[in-house]
Amino acid sequence: MRITRITAYQVDLPLHEGRYAWSGGKSVSVFDSTIVRVETDEGYAGHGEVCPLGPFYLPAYAAGVRAGLAELAPHLIGLDPRQLAVLNEQMDRALKGHAYVKSGIDIACWDILGQVSRQPVCVLLGGRYGDDFVLYRAISQGTPAEMADSVARYRSEGYRRFQLKVGADADTDIERIRAVAAVLRPGDKLVADANTGWLAHEAARVVRGVEDVDVYIEQPCLSYEACLSIRRRTTHPFVLDETIDSIEALLTAHGDDAMDAVNIKISKFGGLTKARQARDLCVSLGIAMTIEDSWGGDITTAAISHLAHSTPPEFLFTATDFNSYVTVSTAEGAPQRNRGRMAASTAAGLGIAPRWDALGEPVLVIE
Ligand code: MG
Repeated sequence: MRITRITAYQVDLPLHEGRYAWSGGKSVSVFDSTIVRVETDEGYAGHGEVCPLGPFYLPAYAAGVRAGLAELAPHLIGLDPRQLAVLNEQMDRALKGHAYVKSGIDIACWDILGQVSRQPVCVLLGGRYGDDFVLYRAISQGTPAEMADSVARYRSEGYRRFQLKVGADADTDIERIRAVAAVLRPGDKLVADANTGWLAHEAARVVRGVEDVDVYIEQPCLSYEACLSIRRRTTHPFVLDETIDSIEALLTAHGDDAMDAVNIKISKFGGLTKARQARDLCVSLGIAMTIEDSWGGDITTAAISHLAHSTPPEFLFTATDFNSYVTVSTAEGAPQRNRGRMAASTAAGLGIAPRWDALGEPVLVIE
């Protein structure tokens, strides 16, 4: 089987809440997503999606996905999409770095492998654990009262894990964490994600200011070293995200006892192949994970669901259902949240079919 054509589509994904805001005054109101289609000489076609969290979150941007695909895709025509390791090695030979560019192609090839072998991707990634898995809800940054109201509303919809977007003024962030903690019930879990937004002195004040609150602290500072410094000053469970984008970074952080949990975003590692490698390493090392991506719609959510559902539940801290945040559906068959939980499709591959009316005309065709 050979790859004969790689096509990219651009889709705007507006938000039900209107906008999503996080540290440093950053916000997005319409996400710019790229859907990748990989076609073969045997009639199989697979799909993937890459959607950066704006151009100012990770070193990734939406137009960069398309520019990178134009550079990379000609090197992949003729390769066997089922041979994921060979394909990834070829992608790394053809384009150094730019993991996020490669993610959509890798996901699409897993979709093809699943269709050819007539298995859902989660089975190929190791197997399905239980009926479903746990989700968290990201709470866009607002006033303490707004964020507490938002948590109460999503709690009533079934979510039990919440990730607050903090990383602003330290005193207000302490108020945000306290206001939200007051509306939670025993068994709920709360994460304060600063998304690199605090300087070390501010992070130190926040962790001390919420010392009596049951809250996880996620990626307080920009640098790994500053995060490690705060980690060593607090007893709160600690999550790293932005600074962990490779196996090397994961091993360094584990060696430093720098985290209790890590956020595995599929495109941050470069696709399901490498995210799965990180996931399996975390299981071996005893590190819990949030499994998600930077953002996305139905196809990203389907990819997340297969990686999350094939992760041992005691290691899956949370996962994300981005398709319930956005107003546009790009694929049929995508998983849907139910009372704060989700299940991967039992159909072959990712279990999705693109909605062509939502995708429109391709913006890139390589054959
Ligand atoms: Mg995070």
